[in-house]
Amino acid sequence: MPFSLAGKRGLVVGIANHESIAAGCARAFVNAGATLAATYLNAKAEPFVRVVTDSLACDLVLPCDVRVPGQLEAVFETIRTGWGRLDFLLHAVAFAPREDLHGRVVDSSAEGFGIAMDISCHSFLRMARLAEPLMTGGGCLLTVTFYGSERVVEHYNLMGPVKAALESAVRYTAAELGPKGIRAHAISPGPIRTRAASGIEQFDELMVRAAAQAPERHLVDVDDVGALAAFLVGDGAKHITGTVIPVDGGQHLMA
Ligand code: NAD
Repeated sequence: MPFSLAGKRGLVVGIANHESIAAGCARAFVNAGATLAATYLNAKAEPFVRVVTDSLACDLVLPCDVRVPGQLEAVFETIRTGWGRLDFLLHAVAFAPREDLHGRVVDSSAEGFGIAMDISCHSFLRMARLAEPLMTGGGCLLTVTFYGSERVVEHYNLMGPVKAALESAVRYTAAELGPKGIRAHAISPGPIRTRAASGIEQFDELMVRAAAQAPERHLVDVDDVGALAAFLVGDGAKHITGTVIPVDGGQHLMA
């Protein structure tokens, strides 16, 4: 093992099933020796999440819909009473109402835009705020973004500006919490077939294009994302903060 996360405790928010990016990251964290808390969206999602969390022997498995007042706070309170501290967290959460996601950005409703921003971006800031007092020995906050934040990617639509805001939120978080030794990053994977991805129109074509354009000529998977996530939360990355790091076989380089 190139490095160890033994003794570190982390929170993973965003596992929907075994195909989730958060599931790949959770596997990498546990394989490197970390102890995890994980969340599920609601009772319908719980059995699919439990398949993952049981296989990884997660210490805490808790409900968390970031739209439900008090649920996120309850997660951090359980961590405080159970563990007394937190070393890292992964925010791998995104949502946009279908009718807004499938239309032009200029036609998006204020309500739909607000919901997408709240769940996909502001919830990261709420998690950072709640994690801050628990990260007494420093820590690392990760989120997951997409290249559609920087360039116009057909059909990514509303999520483009939302991810741009998320990346900016990461930079401000890194600057504000840096003096406490708390780092922040956005990992930017190429397209991966997941539940959330199935909400993007013509996602299959996006994957074909990505595989053809990437200098490596192939797609990445959730384990590739997990390998980077595990490195970033480890001590080997302790002086790296505030970045947006692509894991996309180099696709971001191409015009
Ligand atoms: P996924 O469907 O497996 O995960 C999305 C998660 O968001 C789910 O676990 C879902 O429960 C959670 N979520 C949605 N609304 C929520 C709420 N109100 N409260 C709490 N959780 C909520 O899909 P994924 O592709 O693994 O997505 C994870 C992250 O990766 C997202 O931010 C997504 O935008 C990002 N991303 C995905 C890709 C891709 O190609 N799949 C590429 C780049 C970035």
